[in-house]
Amino acid sequence: MTIRLSEIEDTFLAKGSLDVSRFAEIEDKSMRVITPVSYELTVRKFDDLVTVQGPLECTMSITCSRCLEDFIFDLKAFLDIKLAPRTKNPRVSETELKSDDMDVYYYEGEEIDLEPFIYEEVLLNVPIRLICAEDCKGLCPVCGRNKNLEDCQCDTAARTLLGEKLKSFLN
Ligand SMILES: [Zn+2]
Ligand SMILES: [Zn+2]
Repeated sequence: MTIRLSEIEDTFLAKGSLDVSRFAEIEDKSMRVITPVSYELTVRKFDDLVTVQGPLECTMSITCSRCLEDFIFDLKAFLDIKLAPRTKNPRVSETELKSDDMDVYYYEGEEIDLEPFIYEEVLLNVPIRLICAEDCKGLCPVCGRNKNLEDCQCDTAARTLLGEKLKSFLN
C-alpha cells in the first residue's frame, strides 16, 4: 500500500494485506509464506515526520531442520518505524532521531510505499532456529525414522562417525 502524505490529515489507518507472491524470492523448500500478510498500521504525521505503527501477521510453513516435517508457524509482529524526509531537515538533528527507540527510515517525495517495511518486518520475525519444537527428537541417523513419532532400537552411538572411528581404532 502506498500512502500519499498530502492526503493524510494527521492520522490514517492503513489496513490491508500483502500478497504471498511478494515472498516468492525468499522461499526455498524450507519455508513458505502461506497466507497473505494482514496488517493494520496507524500512520501519524507530525509535520514532515511520519510514524507507522501496528500489528501484522501471517502464517508460514516451515520445514523442521531436525525431523524434516513441515510445521505451521503463526508469525505475529509489530511494525514500529519512523520516517523522516531525505532532505536535510534543520529542525530535526541526527541525535534527536537516534535517541528514539524506533527505527528511523527516510522517504523522498510525497508518497511512502509501506510494503517494503511490512516485508522486512516479516523477514525479521522468521524464527532463527527452524525447529518444530524445542524438544524435537529429529530423525534416527541409522534408520531414518522420525523419532517424534516412533522409537527405534538402533544403536546410534556405535553408528555415528565418531563411533565408527572408535570401533576401528579399538579393533
Ligand atoms: Zn522437528
Ligand atoms: Zn533408527
